[in-house]
Amino acid sequence: MRPVLTLCHACRSPLSDAINKRLKAGEPDVRVSKWLEEQGHYLSRLAIGKHRREHLTDEFQAQVKAAKKELERNKKTIKGDGDLAKLVRDVAMVAVEAGELRPTLQEGLRAQEILDRRVEKSADRDLTLILAQVLGGGQAYGAPLLTDGAVEGEYEVVGEA
Ligand SMILES: [Zn+2]
Repeated sequence: MRPVLTLCHACRSPLSDAINKRLKAGEPDVRVSKWLEEQGHYLSRLAIGKHRREHLTDEFQAQVKAAKKELERNKKTIKGDGDLAKLVRDVAMVAVEAGELRPTLQEGLRAQEILDRRVEKSADRDLTLILAQVLGGGQAYGAPLLTDGAVEGEYEVVGEA
């Protein structure tokens, strides 16, 4: 991802346009922070202050806009080629880069394991569950999907032909 998007939560916020408008109008950081909290997209006063001091220039915002456009384009152009595991990985990757998804280390390891092991037919079912879980945001689907997996403990090397 472009560096302009990696470092600042305010730039990445879905409400970034509104944030910038408020800051440019002179609204104090602490009030913008409070407003964001009310919108369900809380950012700290400090994060907003840093954003206000460093990122409010037209030049920087133009870069942010370009990077976001590129990200959207990447999202749309991802096509399935029949390889579900790769598709999941690509979609998840874009979502992570956009800051929309924060998979845990365990989820990441599990997903990698599925990719590594999918020569096995039984991996298809697991993959579907992982897809639902990762893209659904953790435990959104209720079942403790990761607990019966093979992440902890033993593992085996497959496909080393
Ligand atoms: Zn920023």
